Amino acid sequence: MKIAFIGLGNMGGGMAANLVKNGHEVRAFDLSEDALAKAKSNGCETFTDAKEAVQGVDAVVSMLPNGAIVKSVYSDAVIGHAPEGAALLDCSTIDVATAKEVSEMATAKGYKMVDAPVSGGIAAADGGTLTFMVGGSEEAFAAAKPILEGMGKAVIHAGDAGAGQTAKICNNMLLAISMIGVAEAMKMAEKLGLDPQKFYEISSQSSGYCWSLNAYTPLPGVGVESPADKDYQGGFATALMLKDLRLAMAAAEEVDAGVPLGARAASLYEDFSGAGNDGLDFSAIIKTYK
Ligand code: NAD
Repeated sequence: MKIAFIGLGNMGGGMAANLVKNGHEVRAFDLSEDALAKAKSNGCETFTDAKEAVQGVDAVVSMLPNGAIVKSVYSDAVIGHAPEGAALLDCSTIDVATAKEVSEMATAKGYKMVDAPVSGGIAAADGGTLTFMVGGSEEAFAAAKPILEGMGKAVIHAGDAGAGQTAKICNNMLLAISMIGVAEAMKMAEKLGLDPQKFYEISSQSSGYCWSLNAYTPLPGVGVESPADKDYQGGFATALMLKDLRLAMAAAEEVDAGVPLGARAASLYEDFSGAGNDGLDFSAIIKTYK
């Protein structure tokens, strides 16, 4: 297939490279010259104009920083410029309202659009092992699925337009809450005189079992190997967790959902980020528990 890829940063760069490996002809556009040079070295054809990149394509994939950018890229350079009927796949993490709005604009012009945010970080993007949660019509999902399968290990149809973003922010709100819960329990156990490794051994096989404890233990040298063992470098940055929590809080407000724990988690991550920890893995929040 002929696929335009817009936004070849930390995530998009590896995803586009995987599409090339799958035999697709990838037409890359990014505002950054460095990102374009890297895409070229990975076998993409590069363009300095998005409208040109989407000419004659079967599909457009985007991996951009936020909803305002996604909306402007799609309304200025994709809708009305890519061939009618093309599949449009926005894999960025953005707010639910913008995802629905852009999808409506695209669908009205005859495109098959999905929101398809991802779970998994840069390593999963490079390795082609992302999980995609997809929102859009059955027809749009069917068009997007084979393309997404070339970049991930799981592709799940969540529901109509916006459902992918809904799944993503609700999942990450749960993750933030559970990570803070694990941090709190582990540090309290330690303060009460229990060895953290013993706490891990017991709780990871008891009802405290959860991904944050069992697969991502936030203390160095305890439980499984995780970013904690690399001084909280790599992994899922605090800045990105905070971005997702802000999106979750905005969505909760829009539908008047009660999220007392989500709101508390968002405020704890606001403080942690404000203290200069944006670049650390989100599990480093355990360091705030003395
Ligand atoms: P990034 O900043 O590395 O990449 C974004 C790219 O978009 C950059 O290369 C930038 O130059 C380009 N860009 C910005 N505005 C543009 C425009 N108008 N036209 C064309 N290109 C433009 O960010 P990233 O880490 O790759 O994240 C991308 C998306 O993926 C975000 O929505 C993020 O929330 C989501 N995400 C990231 C991770 C992660 O671990 N990094 C994990 C899951 C989801």
